[in-house]
Amino acid sequence: MGNITFTMIKPEAVAAGNIGAILKMIEGNGFRIVALKKVQLTKNMAGTFYEVHKERPFYGELVDYMSSGPIVAAILEKENAVVDFRALIGATDPAEAEDGTIRKLFAESKSKNAVHGSDSDENAQIEADFHFSAGERF
Ligand code: GDP
Repeated sequence: MGNITFTMIKPEAVAAGNIGAILKMIEGNGFRIVALKKVQLTKNMAGTFYEVHKERPFYGELVDYMSSGPIVAAILEKENAVVDFRALIGATDPAEAEDGTIRKLFAESKSKNAVHGSDSDENAQIEADFHFSAGERF
């Protein structure tokens, strides 16, 4: 048992056929998959999920992109899950991400950056609850 974090494999990584490779890295780095699903977000859902960014200039673009195709959402469990997962995914901009990180390997750009990872324990809970009911967690 450990803490949880929440992730999404973003539309361009799903379209590129990278779901399996990314999940393999996630499990290979000690994260247990508690919940998992493929789903296409509506604009409304993406807007709500990213509401914290609504004052940022790229908010509209981000909402359009995240609702442009299916994503894979997951709850992950590990000791120190939030911090360790942020380390595994790397910097927001793949040009700045360390070698071996998910974003370095799979991201196309700073906006199309392959995966989401929660930035705090509090947000991990909020984001997990946004996507998954209790009966979908194992
Ligand atoms: P994260 O925590 O590393 O995902 O980064 P942020 O919280 O700063 O940004 C949230 C998401 O917005 C990122 O993962 C990108 O998909 C997107 N994003 C960040 N910066 C930009 C930008 O300058 N332009 C666009 N279009 N999207 C961005």
